[in-house]
Amino acid sequence: MRTYIVLDLEWNQSPIGKEGAVEAIPFEIIEIGAVKLDENLEYMSKFHEFISPVVYNDIHHRIYELVHIDINYLRDKGKKFLSVIGKFKQWCYMEGQEPMFCTWGSMDLSELQRNMAYHKQENFFEYPLFYYDIQKLFTLDKCEDPKERLPLEKAVRFLGLPIKGEFHHALDDAYYTSLLFSKINFEALKVYKSLDLYRSPDSKEEEIYVKFPEYAKYVSRGFSSREVLMEDKTVKDMLCCKCNRMLRKKVRWFVDSQKNYYCIAQCPEHGYVRGKIRIRNKQSKGYYAIKTMRLVGKKELDFIKTKKEQLRLRRKNT
Ligand SMILES: [Zn+2]
Repeated sequence: MRTYIVLDLEWNQSPIGKEGAVEAIPFEIIEIGAVKLDENLEYMSKFHEFISPVVYNDIHHRIYELVHIDINYLRDKGKKFLSVIGKFKQWCYMEGQEPMFCTWGSMDLSELQRNMAYHKQENFFEYPLFYYDIQKLFTLDKCEDPKERLPLEKAVRFLGLPIKGEFHHALDDAYYTSLLFSKINFEALKVYKSLDLYRSPDSKEEEIYVKFPEYAKYVSRGFSSREVLMEDKTVKDMLCCKCNRMLRKKVRWFVDSQKNYYCIAQCPEHGYVRGKIRIRNKQSKGYYAIKTMRLVGKKELDFIKTKKEQLRLRRKNT
């Protein structure tokens, strides 16, 4: 049976700022809250634990202002990370249940896996890890600007939902997120799964290609440098998300000042397709590409053409 695990984490960070930060674990999880829903988004059960911190020996003042939990409380009430994550795994993967994880925003699953790696806990999530970013689905359903991202509290107030607990407590936030989840038109938005890239592809076989109604996404394996990456044929190829045709480019790949790459290709049947490549550092070392190929109109073609020309002129003049 499909279940939805609506997850929320609270984490701490170095109380003295960047100098005190541990690179492998900049955010140490101190609380896990989750609500399990059935396939009809009806409440099934909940999970809640505090974690006794071992990396940072005090709560950062900003975090304290949000969560109102002090270090002594955590030392007293919190359990060891490995014991909590073990219980959490059992609760998520009960016999006959296939969990789909849901979070408000895109950070929680990555940070959870980073904490797991730090504590040498085997990564039990499926690969590739798809999840629902309820914040994104909420925007697609309720907001005009598709890039808008409301904080959880604002979204709850936006819908005029009753406020029963405090915000920035993991279980309350998971509960609010599950409530918002049940208020959106999920059937219509179901296809918009998000992809957690804490683990990116290590080989050609692990590379990821996903199709959505208006765009497709490709995630490459790792390359030793940005230059080598941008010479790879699969990275540079453009496909139509509707018909899978290999497309001819109208505007060839170029890089902008934010180091993102753009191009425009054309499908004889479905029109212009804009390519965008973002290059990310790989967890181990090297770089990987996230390419989106999105159907666009003539306006976007002109915009990209102009952008390329402006960048060319700027480079010439400097
Ligand atoms: Zn096409």
